[in-house]
Amino acid sequence: MIHKPKLGQNFLIDDAARHAIVDALGDVSQRTVIEIGPGHGAITEILARRCKRLIALELDRALAAELTFRFRDQPNVQIVEIDVLKADLSALIPPGETADVIGNLPYYITSDILLKLFAAGTLGIVARAVLMMQREVADRVSASPGVRDYGLLSATAQMNASITSLFTLPPSAFSPPPDVYSTVLRLQFAPRFEELGVDAPGFDAFLRQCFAQKRKTLQNNLRAAGHTAATLAALWPASIPAQARAESIALEPMAELYRALSATAEST
Ligand code: SAM
Repeated sequence: MIHKPKLGQNFLIDDAARHAIVDALGDVSQRTVIEIGPGHGAITEILARRCKRLIALELDRALAAELTFRFRDQPNVQIVEIDVLKADLSALIPPGETADVIGNLPYYITSDILLKLFAAGTLGIVARAVLMMQREVADRVSASPGVRDYGLLSATAQMNASITSLFTLPPSAFSPPPDVYSTVLRLQFAPRFEELGVDAPGFDAFLRQCFAQKRKTLQNNLRAAGHTAATLAALWPASIPAQARAESIALEPMAELYRALSATAEST
């Protein structure tokens, strides 16, 4: 099997695992499913039989051509040769419908793909996703506040989706084997911005300020971002210890702090 390491091409060869990934999406008989990076079709083959409509996005021209030929007699399968990061997901999904997403991701662009899916979740065009990624990244996405792996990626992900870690695969599940273990996550997109009383772009930017430097306290990161010590002292919520780092704070108190700071910014 020819593969292009630069495109993250490690193909799944574990039969039980490819079934488990598709099973994790649940009943898709009435669903449009978008597959990211179908490769040689390990997941595509099973999905094509189960879902109403499958749109598979593959950047590699030779692989896209191989799959287009292979699924030529299955009208519910559409192979699109495209960079997933450039694809307009809303144009692929029938108007008024939501889609589910599946993929053994090309690991080199995992964060960018997640950000794209969170934006699609906010627009209400994707409902669920089952995604395989490098284990360390999956651990960060699903970590709770206060544990070592919790950081900006965790906070951003958990503002956008409920996340369940499903299972981990060794390098031997792939050909060629990657250098890392891989974990499958299920994401149920459910943006929390409205519930927490914050606007999405403003709160995303605020989180980036809060987590800017891991060694600094939350207060020091916010001072570095331009908030004065006096403002912070006046508005600091009782729910956040003064010397806390952002990594230990849950999203609810973070939102409380953001609301307090933005209310003052508006009144000045
Ligand atoms: N789904 C297959 C499997 O499980 O065996 C292949 C998974 S492989 C880890 C990642 C796939 O993503 C490869 O087929 C690769 O060509 C494709 N890919 C890489 N970059 C991409 C991009 N920017 N847009 C779409 N597909 C991409």
